[in-house]
Amino acid sequence: MTGLALIGLLAATAATTPASATPTGTDGGRRVEAEYFPDPGGPGRTVEVPAASPVQRGRSAAAPLSAAESALDGAVGEQAVTGPTDDRLDVVIIGDGYTAGQQDDFHADATAKWADITALEPYKSYQGLFNVWTVDAVSNESGVSGDPGADSAKDTALGSYFWCSDIERLICTDIDKVAAYAAKAPAADLVVVIANSTKYGGAGYSGLQAEGHPFNGVSTLSSDHASSGLIAAHEIGHSVGLLDDEYTYEAYGTWTGGEQGGINSTTYTPAQLTEKRAKWYRWLGQSDPAGGTVGTYEGSAYYPFGIYRPTASSIMRELSNTEFNLPGREAMIAGFYRAGNALSSTVDTDATIGPGRRIAVTPADLTTVGAKPHTHGRPDAATGLARTDLRWYVDGVEKVAARGRTSVTPASLGVHADGRSHKVTAEAVDRTDAIRDPAVRALATDTLTWSVRPTGHR
Ligand SMILES: [Zn+2]
Repeated sequence: MTGLALIGLLAATAATTPASATPTGTDGGRRVEAEYFPDPGGPGRTVEVPAASPVQRGRSAAAPLSAAESALDGAVGEQAVTGPTDDRLDVVIIGDGYTAGQQDDFHADATAKWADITALEPYKSYQGLFNVWTVDAVSNESGVSGDPGADSAKDTALGSYFWCSDIERLICTDIDKVAAYAAKAPAADLVVVIANSTKYGGAGYSGLQAEGHPFNGVSTLSSDHASSGLIAAHEIGHSVGLLDDEYTYEAYGTWTGGEQGGINSTTYTPAQLTEKRAKWYRWLGQSDPAGGTVGTYEGSAYYPFGIYRPTASSIMRELSNTEFNLPGREAMIAGFYRAGNALSSTVDTDATIGPGRRIAVTPADLTTVGAKPHTHGRPDAATGLARTDLRWYVDGVEKVAARGRTSVTPASLGVHADGRSHKVTAEAVDRTDAIRDPAVRALATDTLTWSVRPTGHR
């Protein structure tokens, strides 16, 4: 049965079934896949969990918010907005288990967790392709269910809870409630739910676009545990980088399914990768930030034998390693550019402009935090991965003198009212060493083109 059919089923039964009669874990509704990490620093596990929060035993439905609380509920904050939503990967952070009086705590926690994630490459270098929004969710009680004990029940805005599927570290949440809050933000490509708790835990939901949501991934994590941000950093590896898990389950034995699409899993030997120009062949033998050199290491995508990963360890294998390996890093950057454009302009590319019209472009600021942006698009070579280069073309021919300029007129590029139409193009290319695949370089290339009128000044 499809998720959408089940949504209809749930809606039909919700009105007639008393919520308090529904015990933990047996709500009978949709189930979705979620990943969790039993121990800080260890590998993950994947399980099916309910998409909606089961009501705790012995509890009635949630109490309504007061008028004063309702006034605060759903407020949208700009935590880090770097450009137009169409040109950015929009992250929405929502808190659960924060009362009306704790919303400042939520904002501080959201800032701290995003800082933890963006301390890691390649997030660090590419923060300028993200917008980060917060949406305030006002809970009746502070903290979330399952903390401190499995039987502890809290009335919270999103119904998040530890001990999901009887697993202590697995924080599940109500995906439809999350979606309703996320929809208040201007856009939502990725959603992070911060559960107000000092206890280690979290989860990654994936495949939610197939359920009809605008976002594919939701990460949950606890607010006050130092390692919980790594859970989201790993989960975004799936939803944005399209990466496989590189850890294994002993019981899975030997992979016999042949070569599959996973970017960071292969059945080939290094020689075969090179011969077939497949997967990460361009990175073989390179010294890797995740440790060791890139090669083929047995065990990936849950199977311990018959399938290989690029490095012995990485953040996609265990959270004790905070680095993506080189193929993973390239895949992440590809994902950032699939959702984000490094070049924006307020001059409409659909309109035809005169030769005297000023065209200003705004390259994404891909300098890393702390580095001084001398010129837009010229990152500090010592700290950032990105190497954005801005060029101008007239009818496909580069005007070398205009390199790096963020404001030109067609006339200043040599376009005059000569009775013919011309095309002016601005092109931003990220020449980072972290990209080797030409298809990814193409994703990291953004162009804007304007048609210039054959006559007239503006
Ligand atoms: Zn994973």
